[in-house]
Amino acid sequence: MFIGVPREIKNHEYRVGLTPGGVKELVLDGHQVLVECGAGAAIGLTDADYAAAGAQMTANPQDIYANAELIIKVKEPLPHECAQLKAGQVIFTYLHLAPDLAQTQALIASGCTAIAYETVTDQKGGLPLLAPMSEVAGRMAIQAGAHCLEKAQGGRGILLGGVPGVLPARVLVLGGGVVGVNAARMAMGFGAQVTLVDTSLTRLKELDMLYGPSLKTLYSTVDNIERELVHTDLVIGAVLIVGAAAPKLITRAQLALLPKGAVLVDVAIDQGGCFETSRLTTHQEPTYEVDGIVHYCVANMPGAVASTATFALINATLPFIKALANLGWKAAMRENAHLAQGLSVHLGQVICPAVAESHGLAH
Ligand code: NAD
Repeated sequence: MFIGVPREIKNHEYRVGLTPGGVKELVLDGHQVLVECGAGAAIGLTDADYAAAGAQMTANPQDIYANAELIIKVKEPLPHECAQLKAGQVIFTYLHLAPDLAQTQALIASGCTAIAYETVTDQKGGLPLLAPMSEVAGRMAIQAGAHCLEKAQGGRGILLGGVPGVLPARVLVLGGGVVGVNAARMAMGFGAQVTLVDTSLTRLKELDMLYGPSLKTLYSTVDNIERELVHTDLVIGAVLIVGAAAPKLITRAQLALLPKGAVLVDVAIDQGGCFETSRLTTHQEPTYEVDGIVHYCVANMPGAVASTATFALINATLPFIKALANLGWKAAMRENAHLAQGLSVHLGQVICPAVAESHGLAH
């Protein structure tokens, strides 16, 4: 199959859809891979690395859109990229179509087959192509939170792990899913005292079996959260109710319970945030203060660690990319019902029920 990898052109997007290692796997399977020059340059993957892996290189992305049967990207195609897609061509990338009518219409108009990373499922009901970014964001949340706790950042001036003779920081993690467990693991690794709350008792039991007494677990109620806030230095917001806005677990009034200079990291900000006082921030200006509490609310946290995020993403996408390339998309989806969940738009029809519903379209 003829596979194309354009350079990402969205503002501040440094990830790339395939690494040279991924290219090599596909070339060894007998496929032809065309990569846009400079596609991996921002994270140290040179054109020479891609060429050595067997890719052909082009300075002109139109070569890819004109010839590739399968296009691999990271972010959704921008309007002029959508305009180049066509019937018979498959694009596999993050799409996030539900809140994006313009992109949905552009993909419908193109006639292409668009498969979304974020709706591919696994046997346990998880989202395996979304999970790597949650792993990255969860781990980063502790790094960001530790930095924000420094005095110069407006924080309490507390070192996460303490030192011999001085107690470590207390961290409260709201939500014990992929983000939450990765945040908790990092915080425990730093030597912080960590408490995690969730509404799923099954999940709390799993985490208790995994981490034993080093992780304190609590059922998520207003009362339990309020009792914790009084002595918490860093709160990580990591809740998700699939398809819904994040529930607000800390109100503005409850900020008064926290010690001054405590830090809130709202990873769930991409779903509207789980603190009443959360508002979207960027990597350029990641924090602001409300009532003496530092807020960090960056929606695309993995973008800051584009190299790690790229390799993590490709570890998860590569088996699906290989299946699409080796079998063709129809046979690959017949063989794997979880991959079929990714089919969003095909020949002008919206296939994904949630996307169709959110735009009032028949599917
Ligand atoms: P997940 O589904 O794996 O976990 C969510 C957890 O929240 C579940 O265990 C669920 O039981 C729990 N939960 C739901 N309601 C709760 C409540 N009221 N109290 C306590 N726990 C509750 O989801 P995830 O992959 O961990 O993602 C969490 C959030 O992080 C999502 O909104 C996701 O989009 C976001 N995210 C953001 C970034 C970023 O860069 N900011 C990156 C990746 C993921």
